[in-house]
Amino acid sequence: MNINATLLNYYQLCHRKMWLHYHAIRMEHTSEVVYEGKLIGEESYPFRADKNEELEISLPLENEKVVLTAKIDFFDAKRGIVHETKKSAAKEWAHVAQLQFYLYLLQKNGVEVSHGVIEYPKLRQTERVILGEADVLRIEASIEKIREVLEQEQCPLKLPISKCKTCSYFEFCWVGDE
Ligand code: SF4
Repeated sequence: MNINATLLNYYQLCHRKMWLHYHAIRMEHTSEVVYEGKLIGEESYPFRADKNEELEISLPLENEKVVLTAKIDFFDAKRGIVHETKKSAAKEWAHVAQLQFYLYLLQKNGVEVSHGVIEYPKLRQTERVILGEADVLRIEASIEKIREVLEQEQCPLKLPISKCKTCSYFEFCWVGDE
């Protein structure tokens, strides 16, 4: 089983979304929100690619039944800084969790890391993210819970509809139910 940053991100938002994505029921390609996010990432920092590397990284866990993987778009290896751009007009905990997951994987692979930076072009703000001991414990506990949810045969229950309006699975979950 591969657990990546997308699944970790979805785990923070909705267990059902995470389960659907893992089981290859994908709706993100239909989402303009996702497309817009990609464009913002590409257009906001057009020269940054020159000094940052794209990095694919993985970490097999002890029993090797679970492999943690991540594709980091911008890693400043010289300074040990991971950059992540978010199109969101609001800061979200899931963004922090995603970046901490990157820092965790790098650290576990013996790469020297300093911190992460989340860039919010729409807000014209950045947020500094560090990985503390408590964060490491929380990530490891999350991975265990993610594995449990993904191994369930049944799709997890829906969230209240008020939390679903901007989700790419909205029609999948709610069509005919409103
Ligand atoms: S529409 Fe709601 S219940 Fe369905 S996956 Fe999205 S957040 Fe979860």
